[in-house]
Amino acid sequence: MSKAHFGLIGLGVMGENLVLNAERNGFSSVVYNRTYAKTEAFLKGRGFGKSIEGATSLQDFVDKLERPRRILMMIKAGGPTDAVIEQISPYLEEGDLLIDGGNSQFRDTERRVADLESKSFGYIGMGVSGGAKGALEGPSMMPGGTKTSYQAIESLLSKMAAQVEDGPCVTYIGRGGSGHFVKTVHNGIEYGIEQILAESYDLMKRGAGMNGDQIADVMSYWNSTEELCSYLVEITEACMRTKDPIDGTDIVEKIMDKAGQKGTGLWTVISALELGAAVPTIYASLNGRVMSSMKSQRIAAESILKGPSIDHIDFGDATNGLPPLMDAVVLSSMASYAQGMELLRLASSEYDYQLDMPSIAQIWKGGCIIRSTLLKRIQDAFTLDPNLTNLLIDPWFAEQVNRRLPGLAKVVINASQSGIPVPCLSSTLDYINSYRTGRLPQNLVQAMRDCFGSHTYERLDKEGVFHTDWI
Ligand code: NAP
Repeated sequence: MSKAHFGLIGLGVMGENLVLNAERNGFSSVVYNRTYAKTEAFLKGRGFGKSIEGATSLQDFVDKLERPRRILMMIKAGGPTDAVIEQISPYLEEGDLLIDGGNSQFRDTERRVADLESKSFGYIGMGVSGGAKGALEGPSMMPGGTKTSYQAIESLLSKMAAQVEDGPCVTYIGRGGSGHFVKTVHNGIEYGIEQILAESYDLMKRGAGMNGDQIADVMSYWNSTEELCSYLVEITEACMRTKDPIDGTDIVEKIMDKAGQKGTGLWTVISALELGAAVPTIYASLNGRVMSSMKSQRIAAESILKGPSIDHIDFGDATNGLPPLMDAVVLSSMASYAQGMELLRLASSEYDYQLDMPSIAQIWKGGCIIRSTLLKRIQDAFTLDPNLTNLLIDPWFAEQVNRRLPGLAKVVINASQSGIPVPCLSSTLDYINSYRTGRLPQNLVQAMRDCFGSHTYERLDKEGVFHTDWI
């Protein structure tokens, strides 16, 4: 019996779909899962009649694979990934390649690459985005590790990936943990855009008194524009239109308002703080999830802390996408991408990842959760100027900022006057206003630091380090 081209460990949502994708693209496969019952169920179900075999043990798994072996792990990140690496390593031989497609912390990947480089097999840390549907139909993939290892799986990944007009949504990202770092930042941007859309929903519902279908119509309009056409706006429209089969009302109103997180948003913010990157829109989205988790405290505080009563907010013509609200959502989404790209630029230099920014924008154009038409503009901006320090000063983005900033400011003012929280929108407004202010008030912060702690300061009018006896 001929040996299989591709091996998959971990038949969770992602693994199941990725192996079906590989098989559809001509790669006969072997699957292994810690709990064998899941393997059996898969082979009798979605895997039935396909060139996919099951393995009962890791020994059986490696024996069924052609050499050099190409093995993708799609398992829970952290300890479980280390455990599987330890269990399978003794079976691997020279030239074999182990790929971690889970959401691993990039520092774990750095450690594993360093550990495993001393062995004779290759190791790739690969971010995968697209959810279950993307995994099956074509995800966006962000592989990092040694280039020769990537080259060994390039044709497999290129076939499995989503395809856009200028190629597959996969490219070699860079050394070490760079693939997982880029995936982490991707998820940080995703957190930002999800929260921005949630804030716009709250403003339309509580501020403008709109129902689910009316909000969905606005999302549909936004999705028809170049600035907001995206997967996340598309699914937001679907979420807003969907009714509860029990009583026919908007199902979204029945969902508990506590958002979960698995770590990538937190890692994005930690990395940003470590690298000195300003990511306030992304941070606000993470904080929004933290605040949402305090459900019982919020309910108690609702009757104690009195804010302004909600005024009807007039965002203008709904058939024209509620123009100032659209301005706010466009600029905040652009700020999420700008902050993510800035974080990548700083990480590239600090960790010597040598990231190619246009290529990263290119592989995010299809398959992944943050795919949007804006990514073509982002790709163009970094192609025009590979050293661009901030996306928002690219000529196309700057024109958008200059035109839409009054709309964003109006929305934040209206929201504040009505007591509706808009952490991402207001953080974006402050981010842009700070970034476009040549002189900020931190001169006074420096004065205070020198006053209480003799920390010294620099002056605008002469070189050197100064101290004043303040009192
Ligand atoms: P998951 O629920 O995160 O992981 C399930 C798989 O991990 C199962 O096959 C499970 O085996 C295995 N596993 C857990 N602990 C293990 C251990 N100690 N030893 C061996 N195997 C263990 O599934 P998922 O949602 O498909 O995600 C897989 C990976 O992809 C995760 O790292 C996730 O963060 C990442 N990811 C997920 C998505 C998504 O949309 N879901 C998108 C991108 C990336 P058993 O069946 O035996 O429990």
